[in-house]
Amino acid sequence: MKRVYDRVALIGLGLIASSMFHAMKRAGLAGEVVGYAKTRETRDVARDIGLCDRICETATEAVEDADLTVLCVPVGAMGKVAAEIGPALKRGSTLSDVGSVKQSVIEEVSPHLPDGVHFVPAHPLAGTEHSGPRSGFAELFQGRYTLIVPRENCDREAVERIKELWRGIGATTEEMDAAHHDLTLAVTSHAPHLIAYTMVGVADDIRRLTSNEVIKYSAAGFRDFTRIAASDPTMWRDVFLDNREATLEILGRFTEELFALQRAIRTGNGEMLHAYFSRTRKIRRGIIEAGQDTDAPDFGRAKKD
Ligand code: NAP
Repeated sequence: MKRVYDRVALIGLGLIASSMFHAMKRAGLAGEVVGYAKTRETRDVARDIGLCDRICETATEAVEDADLTVLCVPVGAMGKVAAEIGPALKRGSTLSDVGSVKQSVIEEVSPHLPDGVHFVPAHPLAGTEHSGPRSGFAELFQGRYTLIVPRENCDREAVERIKELWRGIGATTEEMDAAHHDLTLAVTSHAPHLIAYTMVGVADDIRRLTSNEVIKYSAAGFRDFTRIAASDPTMWRDVFLDNREATLEILGRFTEELFALQRAIRTGNGEMLHAYFSRTRKIRRGIIEAGQDTDAPDFGRAKKD
């Protein structure tokens, strides 16, 4: 495949950055890939496992002469990192990010952009509950969407180039504005994560009453909540604090619906429950038809033996 950037700098070396590295290298999309992470421990692990062609001791050293710099840190750290690397970014280069929230990241990063650097925010809709430099794999973005969130008056050539990179590593790209992105993700990702965290917290309280039954019989649905609720605590703390309004809006609606269903159960309104569950089942069918999940039974898990 054709090389899209000669030198790429990855700031933050967790799940997303390490997956981008493996995918870019496998497809020959980048020349040299340089990396930096906050702690010495992560930088040492990255060197040990051959993550990136070169690991730098400072973020500014990593972005030097890079044609593309990608911020792969928790959303709450984006502004601080942008302030640090801003003066070192190469004129004519592109700065991007992979943050799960877009409005706050744009607000926090934009003031630190020097003239002549093109900022093209992005968000790959792919992840797992694992984090850190060892967790990445080249196929993570295969068949998934990456949303590109161009700012007003942005450089179209820079936008097209980063789309080419994401398509090269297997993703489908779509453009979206930041406010719409944050509301959409509050529905599809942020609120569901909070609900999973809550459900697992409730079960943990009850577990003290029922010993190990919550774990033993978890395959009845609970275990899928536990996978989501095992996601990185720092990343998700930042997502909720940074996408506060949209998440609260969706949680408000969720609470209203929950009360309506609670009332239907209390009053024995089976018709309402059945109609509601029939409507939600159609959403699942839509996701499968859109190729975003498999219709294999057992929530898509492969059978063990
Ligand atoms: P992760 O595995 O937890 O890794 C985060 C990385 O950021 C670590 O290498 C950490 O370094 C580094 N870091 C934190 N603060 C830093 C700072 N001030 N300067 C330099 N490096 C810093 O995270 P991830 O899952 O890859 O997520 C990264 C970004 O992608 C987040 O913004 C998240 O919202 C977004 N995202 C995540 C997913 C997902 O499912 N995980 C999906 C889509 C988008 P140390 O290890 O040295 O602390």
